[in-house]
Order: sequence, then structure tokens, then C-alpha cells
Amino acid sequence: MINKKDIRAVEKNELESFFMNHKSPQYRATQVIEWIWKHHQLDFNKMLNLSKSERELLKENFIVKSVYISNTTISSDGTVKFLFKMDNANVVEGVLIPQLNRLTVCISSQAGCSLACNFCATGKLKLDRNLTAGEIYDQVFLINQYALSRYNKAITNIVYMGMGEPLLNFHNVIMSIKHITSARGMALSGKRITVSTVGITKMIKKIADLEPNFNLAISLHSAIDKKRSKIMAINETNNLSNLELALKYFYDKTKIKPTYEYVMLKDFNDSIEDAQALVEFCKKIPSKVNLIEYNKVEGIKYQKSTIKKTNIFLEMLEKNNILAKLRRSRGEDIGAACGQLATQNK
Ligand code: SAH
Repeated sequence: MINKKDIRAVEKNELESFFMNHKSPQYRATQVIEWIWKHHQLDFNKMLNLSKSERELLKENFIVKSVYISNTTISSDGTVKFLFKMDNANVVEGVLIPQLNRLTVCISSQAGCSLACNFCATGKLKLDRNLTAGEIYDQVFLINQYALSRYNKAITNIVYMGMGEPLLNFHNVIMSIKHITSARGMALSGKRITVSTVGITKMIKKIADLEPNFNLAISLHSAIDKKRSKIMAINETNNLSNLELALKYFYDKTKIKPTYEYVMLKDFNDSIEDAQALVEFCKKIPSKVNLIEYNKVEGIKYQKSTIKKTNIFLEMLEKNNILAKLRRSRGEDIGAACGQLATQNK
């Protein structure tokens, strides 16, 4: 029996060889690529510009792994949470965040997560598996369809800030971006895509070498090693000085300013000294800061910082000419805000 490969995990040159080996023209590969990505036609029978025998050939040799929406929940602030199913078993979540001039999609790259940051709901899960490029793409495609039908508007921004660590599913994440930005895919601009990472330094350098067309966000959360290690185990192997080296390499190669995400945890990382440490870290590489409000996660002891402390922290950054913004929580009432995704409403 042939071990059928997922057609959306196949590269173009492989598909070209496949057709040529079966005495079909090479350009069939491009036609199939447009079907599976641009038109999102995942049924080989409906690829009507291929001959019947070519369609049969595809069916004999490939499968298509895909994702469907099994539930949607709408927050009082308009944020929509999507529960996606794959293989009828694994579940991930995605979020659509409507703002004044933006429709941002937040998608997952892994089912579960292996990192266990101690303030994050996803971190309490185990890693189930990496999503395929097709499964990542599907989330964007399906949420875009939802946006078009509900608001008559296409999505504008994509953030890889859902469940999982994108840089630990490197190949599939990069492949998904390639198809999201391709004219034979969704043709969206890479400038509107942000990949967020806990800071896997080796992979940050690898991205830099790829000459990326997308943005990078780092979940920093503390610019003091001892503190960062307390909340993010990754800091033990990828500490702040390693991170600095990797980001310097990234910036020098790409001239893209990384964004530092900083969740404001009450009486943990929200003091003047913490802000000073962040200022020093920011001065090392051209960068921006997003302060994030902490979202409640059941069973986790942290609390949201006060408005007063948050404002003092923000002012301190601004006084030192650091580009900083406070990101208010969205979708907290439905468990759709940063760090809350854990598929609890299965
Ligand atoms: N693993 C990647 C992608 C997830 S992004 C990363 O960590 O960057 C999700 C963002 O939400 C990260 O910055 C994460 O640290 C943050 N986050 C996690 N739990 C949170 C919580 N309870 N409240 C606010 N932000 C949280």
C-alpha cells in the first residue's frame, strides 16, 4: 500500500517531478498549487482543469489534511474565538480581533505547547503535535472567509500568537507564511504578519538567514535574567545575553525592529527597577515594546498590574524614547485573550 503524503506538505519541485514521472506536463503542479492554496479547493475531483486520469492519480497518491471550525464564541467586545478541529481529534484555537481599522487574526502553530511558561494557560497543556502548513493556513483562510461574510471585509493582520511555539514548528510555520503571502495563495503582505516566540535564539538566527518579509515579536516579560527564568523556563538555556546576540544578528541582517512583549504581572515585573532594566535591554537593538495586560488563567496565582503602576512603567519607557504601547485585553470574557487559549470549551 502507498503511504499517501499530505499534498499540502509537498514542495513545488516535488510535485513537478511527480507529474513528469507520470508523463504529465510540469505545469500541472502550478495548477494544483493554485487549487489547494489560492482557491482552497481540497477535493481532487473538483480540480477541473486536470484530466480525469490526473485527478485519479492524485487521489491514489495523496491525501489532504485540513481543519474545520467546530465552534465559534463571540465576546462582548466583538472578539471571536474559533475552535478548530483536525483529524476529528486535535483541537486548536484561533481568534479574530476587530479593531477600528484592522481585522487581526491570531492563529495557533501547535496543538498544545512544550514550553510551560508559568503564567500561560496553553503552557499548562502538553504538546500534542505540530500543525502542518496546511492546518496553519486553514485557520487564516477560514477566519478570512468568516470576516468577509460577517463584516464584508478581509482580514488585515495575522499574528502567530495562538497556541504553541512557532519556532519549534519552524518548517511548517515558514511554509505557511510562504503560501499566505504568495500570489498563488492568499497574497497577503508579509509586513502584516508577526511571528511571536519565547526567544529560541538558534531559530531567530535561522529566520534572519531566510531574509524574512514578516515581523518578529519576542515574549520578553522581564529584562532581568533571574526573574525571567522564574516565569519562562526557556530562559535557562536561552538567556538574555544569548537573546541579545541573536536579535542583534537578526536586526543587522534584516533591519526589522523586533517587538518585545511584556505582560504586566502585579508586584512581579512592574516596578521602576523592572522598567529600567527593560529600557537598558531596549537600547541594545532598535526595537518596540508592547505592554500586555495580564489575563486571568484559572489556577495561576499572578494578577494584573494596577493601572497606576502600568502607567508609571509606560511613562518611564517613553521618557527614555522607547517606542511603547499598552495593549488592552480583548476577548477575556470568552477565554480568547493572550495566554488563555487552552480549548476548555471542547
Ligand atoms: N509561544 C509564543 C507564541 C504565543 S504568543 C510566545 O510565547 O511568544 C502569546 C503571548 O501571550 C505571549 O507573549 C505570551 O507570553 C503571552 N501570554 C501568555 N499568557 C498570558 C496571560 N495570561 N496574559 C497575557 N499574556 C499572556
